[in-house]
Amino acid sequence: HGKESGRGQCVRYKKFMQVEADERHILENDLRDALHNGDLSVAYQSIVDANSEEIIGYEALLRWNHRTRGEISPAVFIPIAEEARLIGNIGNWVLRTACAQAKSWPDHVRLSVNVSALQVEGGGLANSIIGALASSGLSPDRLELEVTESVFLDNHEKTDATLENLRSLGINLVLDDFGTGYSSLGYLRRASFSTIKIDRSFVKSATRGSSESMAIIRAIVSMAQELGMKTTAEGIENIREMDVMRDLGCTQLQGYLFSRPTQSVSDQASNSSDSLAVISFSNTELKRK
Ligand code: C2E
Ligand code: MG
Ligand code: MG
Ligand code: MG
Repeated sequence: HGKESGRGQCVRYKKFMQVEADERHILENDLRDALHNGDLSVAYQSIVDANSEEIIGYEALLRWNHRTRGEISPAVFIPIAEEARLIGNIGNWVLRTACAQAKSWPDHVRLSVNVSALQVEGGGLANSIIGALASSGLSPDRLELEVTESVFLDNHEKTDATLENLRSLGINLVLDDFGTGYSSLGYLRRASFSTIKIDRSFVKSATRGSSESMAIIRAIVSMAQELGMKTTAEGIENIREMDVMRDLGCTQLQGYLFSRPTQSVSDQASNSSDSLAVISFSNTELKRK
């Protein structure tokens, strides 16, 4: 009897897996087309200085508006792009699109682009960046690459050399989602990161009163200070979270409180043509509410 139900479960599981595989296969083909028929776009979310609340940069976030299914999250399709080896082409398109866009922003405003570990391992990233910078005319010191610590999980020496090579182009490296993975302090030594991004989940638990999370954030922040790095707290959704993270010493803040990712940076201003000035103004307003 036990065997019977076990086998039944196994058959159901196999069917489930098959659907999963078919679904991934469909999305993979759709994604291949999306790159060519204009269904991908880049959204931008502001990053602000923790004290002045002025916009210091924007993070580029890839969007896919699927023809029949609507918006699909990058958390779903980036892993598919990686598995299908499409991430190199897609990542190259993101870099070119975002650098061209950022060229029209004021000179002090930076651009952050996420790159996956596979892009770093792939070998084509440096050329892709050189191409995007050359065709847009964007200065390398305005470009930041966000990588997660997954880049360090295998392939050690090659990864260090690749990151060092990227740094030598004059761009900045950001360690994204710190606090979610192994969060090894050794990683901070492995490449010259300019900024550590403290993951949203950490921000949440600290503001919910976890004294352990608060202590760890304090330690990360003071270590970053000693190493001359900035710290960005991601996922700031309300004033309480903003106050807690600023008081803990984070130098930059990002989250829905300031703005959601939008297709055009001027959407983040309150309908004026003098966009960027208005954005920092409305952030200050936000704070006073
Ligand atoms: P990430 O780089 O850690 O980006 C932050 C994510 O948090 C974004 O989700 C952003 O929309 C979301 N977020 C920002 N502020 C808030 C907030 O206050 N509350 C909440 N709940 N969420 C907030 P998104 O755009 O869905 O991207 C998810 C992940 O997909 C990114 O995480 C990044 O790892 C990846 N991704 C996005 N675009 C690209 C890309 O062009 N290339 C690569 N390789 N990965 C990308
Ligand atoms: Mg990021
Ligand atoms: Mg992040
Ligand atoms: Mg994250």
